[in-house]
Amino acid sequence: MKNYDCILVGSGINGIAAAIYLQQKGLKTCIYEGSNAPGGSTKTQPLTLPGFQHDTGSAIHPMAFASPFLKTLPLKDHGLEWIFPKIPYAHPFLDGSAVAAYTDVKITASELGADEEAYLNVFEKITSKWESVDSDLLGPLTIPENPLDFIRFGLKAIQSAEQLSDHYFQNEKTKAFFFGAAAHSTLPLDAWASSSFGLVLSIMAHKYNWPFPKGGAGNLIKALVSYYKSLGGTLILNHKVTDVESLPKADAYLFDCTPKQLLAIKNTNLSQTYRKRLSNFKYGPGVFKIDWALDKSIPFTNEKCRMAGTVHIGYSTSAIKNSEALIYEGTISETPYILIAQHTLFDDSRAPEGKHTAWAYCHVPNGNITDMTTIIENQIEKVAPGFKQLILARSTKNTQELEAFNPNIIGGDINGGKQDITQLFTRPIVKISPYSTSNKSMYLCSSSTPPGGGVHGMCGYHAAHKAFKDHFKK
Ligand SMILES: Cc1cc2nc3c(=O)[nH]c(=O)nc-3n(C[C@H](O)[C@H](O)[C@H](O)COP(=O)(O)OP(=O)(O)OC[C@H]3O[C@@H](n4cnc5c(N)ncnc54)[C@H](O)[C@@H]3O)c2cc1C
Repeated sequence: MKNYDCILVGSGINGIAAAIYLQQKGLKTCIYEGSNAPGGSTKTQPLTLPGFQHDTGSAIHPMAFASPFLKTLPLKDHGLEWIFPKIPYAHPFLDGSAVAAYTDVKITASELGADEEAYLNVFEKITSKWESVDSDLLGPLTIPENPLDFIRFGLKAIQSAEQLSDHYFQNEKTKAFFFGAAAHSTLPLDAWASSSFGLVLSIMAHKYNWPFPKGGAGNLIKALVSYYKSLGGTLILNHKVTDVESLPKADAYLFDCTPKQLLAIKNTNLSQTYRKRLSNFKYGPGVFKIDWALDKSIPFTNEKCRMAGTVHIGYSTSAIKNSEALIYEGTISETPYILIAQHTLFDDSRAPEGKHTAWAYCHVPNGNITDMTTIIENQIEKVAPGFKQLILARSTKNTQELEAFNPNIIGGDINGGKQDITQLFTRPIVKISPYSTSNKSMYLCSSSTPPGGGVHGMCGYHAAHKAFKDHFKK
């Protein structure tokens, strides 16, 4: 006798998205979460001083705002409010100048001098047509609904960030600006498909801005959980699943964890062949994370950076390329590429009056535990003199501490596995449905499945769709 139709293991964005999809279909579901709070890497916590709220994991959420599944949900009715920064992201240079990505692609291009036409050529059409390809791109490999638009995007996306920027752009600053977005991939900038991340994230900025939930990323999860419960779903916290036999009976089990963790769970009855293939799954580099409580906002020399929700630090193409290549050679960079988020410039609910927070991380080799604090702060100080004097308190997490915070962050890998050309669409293994396992009632639904890392819930949505089709569709 079954207790639930479906059981979800893990309440990251993908576990919750999958559970909501199944609950919406009229099924009875239950989520088991190992931690004392839902959300996986999407959590807001008081990490430094009283009154300061920090996003321990994900911070900037264009992918959640634009997610073909999440945007269909009534999250506003469950308390979610989006904050839109004046400028989605900016890229400062050591000479005091900066390039900014505005929501308007034409204004962005107009500041790029000789690259104005080229920038429009790359982004204008693709941005306006995004909704004709987003569902195909944010899922498993399939026959696209709009093949021409898909191919137009795919021919650019397959290239390395270096190839694409050398092909289209003349100016070093335009190229470095594109590298700043592409380096979110955690791939070397000369790796196949590294441009895809730069393309998608730039399109997001021009189409939707790079918004974030008011009060913290955790409020996205709060709204999702509230909606899930309003549909009748059950969430059980503090219950790490180590053995499927310990769970109530269900027709389908969906795991919001990475292959390494799935392999460690007892009684999954996975075939030896599947287990062997899963054990070859590759993890990517890790990150070193810092959150600051600040006396004032970061004093960037360039005004555009003082108006941007996100700032990419890395300066030149050669510096960013070198920093990301070193990570792949197993070494840390002394002048790393850094992502910074400045929520309190636009949302004063996260810090005491007049005070600010800042969030940042840089890439490090998987499992590396070097303390990158001084290196990161010195790197920022170059374009924001006086920054270090404003630090009231800081909280840091190396790769081991991140994995202790969330067991899915294997060796500090925040994307549920390496996102290179071999694992981008076919993660965790090459299979007609990457969500299915060798056991007909078990599914993977985490960011280790397509479309991979990021807070969008599309891995969960596709896995749930597959489980529903297999077990419940009449
Ligand atoms: C520092 C950092 C910065 C990031 N920045 C951004 C950003 O700005 N924007 C963005 O879009 N993305 C960002 N990401 C990536 C994003 O957070 C992840 O891609 C996303 O959270 C993946 O969601 P998920 O549901 O697959 O897994 P997770 O969020 O990892 O959640 C998995 C959940 O499953 C639980 N679990 C696992 N195994 C078990 C088990 N056996 N039993 C019970 N529970 C289990 C875990 O406890 C966890 O709660 C960032 C991540 C980190 C860590």
